[in-house]
Amino acid sequence: MALIKLNKNNLFYNLETISNHAGGKEKVAVVLKDNAYGHGLIEIATLASEFGIKKAVVRTLDEALAIEKLFDYILILAHKDFHTYSHTFHIALNSIEDIDNLPLGCNVHIKVDTGMHRNGILIEELEEAFLGLSKKNIKVTGIFTHHRNADNLSTDFFWQKSVFSRVKLAVSELCEKLSLDIPSFHSCNSAGLFRHTNFNEDFARVGIATYGYLDNANIFKFPTLKPVLSLWGKRISTRTLKESQSVGYGGTYKATEDTIISTYDVGYGDGFLRLNERKNYTTPDGFKVLGRVSMDNLSLNTNKDEVCIFNDANTLAKVHDTISYEITTTLSTNIKRVIV
Ligand SMILES: *Cc1c(COP(=O)(O)O)cnc(C)c1O
Repeated sequence: MALIKLNKNNLFYNLETISNHAGGKEKVAVVLKDNAYGHGLIEIATLASEFGIKKAVVRTLDEALAIEKLFDYILILAHKDFHTYSHTFHIALNSIEDIDNLPLGCNVHIKVDTGMHRNGILIEELEEAFLGLSKKNIKVTGIFTHHRNADNLSTDFFWQKSVFSRVKLAVSELCEKLSLDIPSFHSCNSAGLFRHTNFNEDFARVGIATYGYLDNANIFKFPTLKPVLSLWGKRISTRTLKESQSVGYGGTYKATEDTIISTYDVGYGDGFLRLNERKNYTTPDGFKVLGRVSMDNLSLNTNKDEVCIFNDANTLAKVHDTISYEITTTLSTNIKRVIV
């Protein structure tokens, strides 16, 4: 099988850079949703905890349960039916109706829609939400929002920031009126955090930067981070392709001279998105993917026993016209992960 190597030094380098920018490890919540962006939930959670990160963000209850012992504080972004609950958990409230689905006496972070219009309640609904939650003895431990365009040059970021400032004010007034503790406030993902020169929120929810990527880093002069994941293939078989012979489905790659080629045990079945005759890709060591990628193998012009298929998701993201997030997140959970 294919193999994923996770570079611990690179991960720690990224977490150090992030923590320094945020103003301390306690101001970083590492985002581990979707199998830690394909890197491996348990592996990344264990390393982040070893580094000293105390807060995590996940999508589901199952993810939260799997890492419960490693963090003091876990925000669950999108889960509806809670058959179990722990006081380490803080549940995101994405709509008013969801108050009915929350366990009695739990911790909640209210998501507020400041302009992305995807999830969250409106500023006008805050009082109704606080009252509905207090009826179920639920504690509001956080108020948050999400930026729709933090990684692009546009005024959206500043506009949503100003809406969120109004939210903070409204929440503070409500808490005073209802004699409640002021919750924590957070609005930033990776790009949002690095767009602040003086980060002053309670914490940032940092996903992609943890793994070594920041989109449009050159425009914003973001720091250079180090990719954590690399995908490796093992040689299955080798042959010499004679001039004008072709390889793989459709025979789309044709040798122009006698060429040594080998197949490696990586394919789109492993979540390595399919390359074909319209998508050229060269591995970090300069080997070319020849013809179409199959479900369980691909062909390269080498006979090395082990080859690094990629160690920078951005290179592949360009080929596939997508983002680094999709390249790593699609990698199959079945692939073995090793920490190096
Ligand atoms: C995924 C996600 C993040 C992390 O975003 P990055 O760009 O990967 O840092 C932060 N907040 C919410 C609500 C998310 O869904």
